[in-house]
Amino acid sequence: MNTFNQIVAKKRIVVAPPHPEPTMSGWYTTSGPELRLVRQGGDVPCDCLVIGGGWMGLHAARRFAELNPQSSVILVDAARIGNNASGRCMGFVIDLAHNPRKRDFVEDIKGNKEELFVNLDGIAYIRSAVEEHGVDCDWDPQGKYHSAATSHGMADLHRFSEALDKLGQNYSWVETPEIQAITGSKHYIKALHHPGTVLVQPAKYLKNAVKSLPANVTIHENTPIVAAQFGAPKHICETPTGTIRASKVIICASGYLTKFGFFESRAIPLYTFASMTRQLTQSEVSQLGSKRAYGLIPADSFGTTVRRTIDDRLFLRNVYSYARNFKTTEQDVLRARTQQQVAFDRRWPGLSSIGFEASWGGLLTLAQNGGMVFGELAKNVYGAAFCNGTGVARGAAFGKAVAELATGQSSAVIEILRARASPSRTYPRLLTSIGVRFVTALRFKRAGAEV
Ligand SMILES: Cc1cc2nc3c(=O)[nH]c(=O)nc-3n(C[C@H](O)[C@H](O)[C@H](O)COP(=O)(O)OP(=O)(O)OC[C@H]3O[C@@H](n4cnc5c(N)ncnc54)[C@H](O)[C@@H]3O)c2cc1C
Repeated sequence: MNTFNQIVAKKRIVVAPPHPEPTMSGWYTTSGPELRLVRQGGDVPCDCLVIGGGWMGLHAARRFAELNPQSSVILVDAARIGNNASGRCMGFVIDLAHNPRKRDFVEDIKGNKEELFVNLDGIAYIRSAVEEHGVDCDWDPQGKYHSAATSHGMADLHRFSEALDKLGQNYSWVETPEIQAITGSKHYIKALHHPGTVLVQPAKYLKNAVKSLPANVTIHENTPIVAAQFGAPKHICETPTGTIRASKVIICASGYLTKFGFFESRAIPLYTFASMTRQLTQSEVSQLGSKRAYGLIPADSFGTTVRRTIDDRLFLRNVYSYARNFKTTEQDVLRARTQQQVAFDRRWPGLSSIGFEASWGGLLTLAQNGGMVFGELAKNVYGAAFCNGTGVARGAAFGKAVAELATGQSSAVIEILRARASPSRTYPRLLTSIGVRFVTALRFKRAGAEV
């Protein structure tokens, strides 16, 4: 148990809920019917309360309920599940995460092996939802292309390939004619195909996974926890319309975990942004290249990530910005959309006039030292949070493992996650915001035509 226990166990903490997103995500609006909304009300007891319905929280709720079929589990989210950062992401379920802090983008050998082990556990758990519970999410295990559009991007790809060699990873080179034929874009000059990643429609997955949760889970969306008092015999968590008294609480609220009194001053909140076209027409599709759907990761991590979806939309992500108080605005989204149009025009000038049907941002929580939250934060209060940029496979693994920990189990994944560094204290906020703004602007400029 850590020192936070003494601080939080005694007092009622007023919890600042997340800011509403200023725009809807294109994934969410194309993910099928809304889930039935069940509002929380009254004074309700439960065995386990999970706070946050992203990759971490959803899988924590599923796992806890599977392992404890006699227990009552409540999953709350402040907003709609699927319209959170988890549903707003690019949908790469990544086995080997690309670390932009490192020059060759990968960890040391031990760190990398552990990362792979954890992520594969997350992918297997997501796959089991698809295969065993029929969760529809456009599951596509085709891997990802790391693509270069410039000579410095090529140098990045070569450094990445040398690191993959050292790790004994399989990959293949995709030369200019092939990558241009795949994408229908003369912008790309080379790519490296790395298998292992799965592409999904994230909002579709999350919404359908909610529907397949075990029967002992009750879900309340649009239900923020606005105050919490952690202690025995029950933790008391207040919503705007009632109270939940829980024997165990698992907090999977990304950077908002800090608002519950844990790891304060350790979150670096960033937003990144995406834009999606409408469905392209048959004649537009003929300009798009031979491959029906794919995912491209930029060789330079400040470049543009691209997906072509199975329903023939193009979808681009770029721009990182410091999110003061975890908040973004419509103006921030529109500024990023301008950059996404520039990126689109570089790649498909003939389709430039199509524009975007939807643009949106999503929160990423980073720690200065790359640390993540995992474990028991106070007696019978558990947490998994801080994605550090890639949180789909990782998020599922963290969520599953934290539920196992809360059930008293141990596993190799739990041991790896417990041994990892937790988030370090950031510099004072003003300094952090200036530093992050400076570094992101510089790296965006340096990325040049990789954007
Ligand atoms: C545009 C974009 C593209 C990305 N692409 C990828 C990708 O392709 N692959 C990848 O691996 N990662 C990607 N990421 C990162 C990934 O989306 C995140 O790492 C991941 O979603 C984090 O999951 P999470 O469950 O920790 O957090 P979240 O999805 O942020 O979920 C936390 C939830 O907690 C809820 N919450 C917070 N406070 C409260 C409260 N007081 N009461 C109740 N609920 C609360 C929030 O409403 C939220 O739904 C991307 C992110 C963005 C924004």
